[in-house]
Amino acid sequence: MDNRKYNVVIIGYGGMGSYHVQLIEPIEQLAIGGVYDIVDYRMELAAAAGYKTYASLEAVLGDQDVDIVLIATPNDVHKEIAIQALQAGKHVICEKPVTITSADFLDIVEVAKQENRLFTVHQNRRWDEDFRIVKDIISKKTVGDLFHLESRVQGANGIPGDWRQLKAYGGGMLLDWGVHLLDQLLQITDSQIESVTATLSYILGTEVDDGFTSLIEFKDGLTAVIEVGTTNYVKLPRWYIKGTEGTAVIKDWDLSGEIVTRNPDVAHVEPKPIQAGQGLTKTMAPPSEESTLKFPIEKIPAAAESFYENFVSTIEGKAELAIKSEEVHRVLVLIETIFEAAATKSVIRRSI
Ligand code: NAD
Repeated sequence: MDNRKYNVVIIGYGGMGSYHVQLIEPIEQLAIGGVYDIVDYRMELAAAAGYKTYASLEAVLGDQDVDIVLIATPNDVHKEIAIQALQAGKHVICEKPVTITSADFLDIVEVAKQENRLFTVHQNRRWDEDFRIVKDIISKKTVGDLFHLESRVQGANGIPGDWRQLKAYGGGMLLDWGVHLLDQLLQITDSQIESVTATLSYILGTEVDDGFTSLIEFKDGLTAVIEVGTTNYVKLPRWYIKGTEGTAVIKDWDLSGEIVTRNPDVAHVEPKPIQAGQGLTKTMAPPSEESTLKFPIEKIPAAAESFYENFVSTIEGKAELAIKSEEVHRVLVLIETIFEAAATKSVIRRSI
């Protein structure tokens, strides 16, 4: 064994639990200490991959060599596993959505405080390149002052798997992809939310939402449309960003897209009317070539620390957690507000 310092045990070795292996293994201070899953077949896969398997959660928590517990089970059992692991003296990383309600999350935070252990949530999409580029465009005011953004993910494959279609497991797309897009949104502005409207979709006939659209208005005037769809055979762009000086579009995770801004060196050029259907329009004519500038979507340097590097730095007292409890709680409150807005078909005016 090399000099790796912290053993991580993965609880729930399904799609995401087994993916975490790829995130943990490159980190010098971390080792995969083993795996526990309630399904034998998943344990066989873990054993075949060379990992120690534990017979029970109690066996994991009773092992003094285990430093960190990673929870990658369905959402309904995150809370009970997190609390037991913290009480056993382990640091805990939990998959998103951390809990199904904001109150449940606060219960975990309380235990983490009492036990003086670290607890964080794998909001990995804060490290996504498209999102980091959007933040860069906004902070550099490449399109002027941001006043509207649209962030959406759309697929045509329905809700995947089994438990994601069931309410009792914390299924549904608002809790699944929604938690990522809303977490990203709240990292984009410091402003408080003023109001929320939303609709959930049930096209597939499941008991949980197969998508949603929410319009969120912030106190500083920013408006955001956040949308998740699972019945979209043609996608809209991943990001649509409007500023006072231009517009940026990122079409997909391949970073295709463009930025078009007003050319500050050219006085306003009156647009020429275009034929539009059965009429003419000047209002909707494209801006003239000479009065605009076009830029490609540029890649930006990788983040200084990965999610796991940050977790290790925080254990060692050299950093603060990248994903903070207050931020996670705020996203859960926003999700609850979106559910409420959709159920009551009303505008919820609430400072979040
Ligand atoms: P999955 O169904 O593929 O895997 C879940 C695994 O947990 C299964 O192997 C199941 O047998 C096991 N399990 C269930 N109950 C358990 C228990 N009490 N103790 C131990 N093991 C148990 O689901 P998934 O897609 O891997 O999702 C797991 C978690 O990861 C969810 O919270 C999901 O939202 C999250 N997730 C996050 C991302 C991301 O990008 N951050 C992506 C996918 C999934």
